[in-house]
Amino acid sequence: MAVIPIYNCFHPVLQQKTEEIKNIDGRLKKLVDNMYDTMRNIDTGVGLAGNQVGANKSVIVMDLSVAGEVDEDRSITMINPAIEHFSDETIEDLEGCLSVPEYFEKVIRPAEIQVRYLDIDGNQQIEQADGFFARLIQHEVDHLNGIIFIDRIASLKKALAKSKFKRILKGKVPVDYPMILPDGTLQK
Ligand code: ZN
Repeated sequence: MAVIPIYNCFHPVLQQKTEEIKNIDGRLKKLVDNMYDTMRNIDTGVGLAGNQVGANKSVIVMDLSVAGEVDEDRSITMINPAIEHFSDETIEDLEGCLSVPEYFEKVIRPAEIQVRYLDIDGNQQIEQADGFFARLIQHEVDHLNGIIFIDRIASLKKALAKSKFKRILKGKVPVDYPMILPDGTLQK
């Protein structure tokens, strides 16, 4: 088991688009295993994108059982995910992020999506999703494009949270998992 630190939302690695994965090799599989270990080490961890653990790779891992959405273990790895279709209907719901500790806000997103991706064996997959799953996929795919959920909230709400964001940036909001701060140091 290898738990790796989560990168703070203000670290540059989370502001840039990740690279497409060309080879699903042992190195990538190890990264994915470590991402699952890292995510499951955190009670609220339901999804994690490659750049959240400092890897500039287009890969996300999710576990819907953590969110209480399904009873059985349902882990899904998506490599190079691309959302091909968004419904016109939108839903507003609360979101949080392991890279933005102790901050939750409502985000408006399309209610249903269709996503195309490669699974860990390199097979092309197409998934239709709605509800929580659709929101989770959109949140994680946003990460791969260098977008964080706080980029999608109204500027007024963002302005109101300014002091909170400053505390997160400086590593002053306590986390019970290792976190890399924007300057590359580990939060203490
Ligand atoms: Zn996130």
